[in-house]
Amino acid sequence: MIRQVNLLVKDMPHQWYNIIPDLPEPLPAPLDPSDGPSRIKNLPNLLIGECLKQEFSQESWIDIPDELLQIYAQAGRPRPLFRALGLEKKLDTPARLYYKGEFFSPTGSHKVNTALAQCYYAKKEGFEQVTTETGAGLWGTALSYASALNGLKCRVFWVRSVYNWKADRRHFMQFLGAEVHASPSPMTKCGKELYDKNPNHDGSLGIAISEGLEDAGRDPKTVYCLGSVLNHVLMHQTIIGLEAKKQFEVFDDYPDMVISCFGGGSNFGGFAIPFIGDVLTRAKKTKFIASQSKAGPNLQGEYRYDFADYAELTPMLKMYTLGHKTDMHPIYGDGLRYHGASPIISLLRNKGYIDTVAYPNDEKHVFKQAQLFTETEGWLPAPESAYSVACAIDEAIKCKEAGEKKVIAFNVSGHGFLDMYAYKTVLGLK
Ligand SMILES: *Cc1c(COP(=O)(O)O)cnc(C)c1O
Repeated sequence: MIRQVNLLVKDMPHQWYNIIPDLPEPLPAPLDPSDGPSRIKNLPNLLIGECLKQEFSQESWIDIPDELLQIYAQAGRPRPLFRALGLEKKLDTPARLYYKGEFFSPTGSHKVNTALAQCYYAKKEGFEQVTTETGAGLWGTALSYASALNGLKCRVFWVRSVYNWKADRRHFMQFLGAEVHASPSPMTKCGKELYDKNPNHDGSLGIAISEGLEDAGRDPKTVYCLGSVLNHVLMHQTIIGLEAKKQFEVFDDYPDMVISCFGGGSNFGGFAIPFIGDVLTRAKKTKFIASQSKAGPNLQGEYRYDFADYAELTPMLKMYTLGHKTDMHPIYGDGLRYHGASPIISLLRNKGYIDTVAYPNDEKHVFKQAQLFTETEGWLPAPESAYSVACAIDEAIKCKEAGEKKVIAFNVSGHGFLDMYAYKTVLGLK
C-alpha cells in the first residue's frame, strides 16, 4: 500500500483556481462606512496592483508566472500528500486518512505560498518595502523570507503578547533582514495612542493590521501585504488543494470529508476550495469542516458587514465576524484568533457548504491529538495545525463507532519546531 504521493516539479499546477465565478451567489462587494473618507478609493494606495486586480477577478483560472513557479520549486513545492496508515492503525478506524504536508515549508507554514506571490508582484511594480502585521508570527516569518528572496525590505508589526514568548521566531525574522516591532507600537498614530496608555498592551491582530496599513499609507515605496482573509490570498493558496487533487488521482481515491484549521481562512480555503469547486460544478458530495478555537470562533459569529481592522482603515467586508473591537482569550494556537472570516468562506458557510467545530481554550484535547499524530506519523504540527489534526482524529473515531469507511483529508498547515513551548506548557512536559 502506498503511503505518500508526491508530484514532479513539472506537474505542479500552473494556474490558481478562483472560485468566485462558481459561487452559488455573487460575492457581496466591499462597502464604505457611512462616514469618513472612502476606504475603497484608498485601496490602490495600500495594496499591490496585481493583487487588487486578482481580488475582484471573474476569471476562473489565473496563470502563475513562470518565474514564481520556479521560486515555488525553490521553496520545496510540490509538497507530499500522505496516507496516515500509522494513525489509522492506532485508532483502529475503518476510515482512510490522508494529510497534506505543508509543514515542509521553509518558514514553517503554508503562508509562503502567498508571501512569495505578493513579494514577486511588489518587486515587479517597483516597491522597495513591504509592511505587515502578524499574530502567531508565521505570516511575519513567511513575508520576511519572501521579501529577502525578492530583494525587498520588510517591516512587521507583531501582536505583543505573542512577540514576547516566540523569541526564536522573532530572531528568525531578523535573521532574514526584517524589522520587527511589538504592536501596539509607538511607530504609528493608532499604535501610539494605545501604547502611551499602556506600553505592555497585549495587542491584537486587528490593531496590528491598522499599524501596517498606516505605515504603507504614508510612504509610496512601501506596500501593505495581508496573509489571510482576502480573495487573492485564498486563491494563491489553492495550489495546496490543486496539488492534493492530482495526488488523490494517483492514490485512486477521493475525499468524503475535507478538514482544516481556520483562523482567517487561508489554509482551509487553499486546501478545500478546489474540492468545493467539485461540489459546486461536478455534483460531488464532499463535506467540509473548519476547525476553530472557542477563543475566536468567527464562523459562529454574525454574518454581516464589518471592518477587517481595529482602527477602521479597511473597507467593510460581508463576513462572519465576532466584531472588530472584540477582545479574544489568548491561546497558543494564536493564528486562530481573528475576529473575521474570509468573505468567500463566509458565503459558503452561509449557504450550508461548511460545518465548523470550536475546541476549548485550554487546548489540552487538540494538543494531545497532535501528540498522537506525531507518535504515529512522525511529523510535528504547528499549534494551529493541531486543530486540523484533532478534528480529523475525532471524525475518524466517529467512523469507527459507526463502522463507516469514510475518506478523510486534512491539511497540516505548518510545523511546530519553533513552538515546543506551547506543547510543553499545555501538556505539562518537564
Ligand atoms: C496563519 C496560520 C493559520 C491560520 O490562518 P488561516 O488564514 O486561517 O490559515 C493556520 N495554520 C498555520 C500554520 C498558520 O501559519
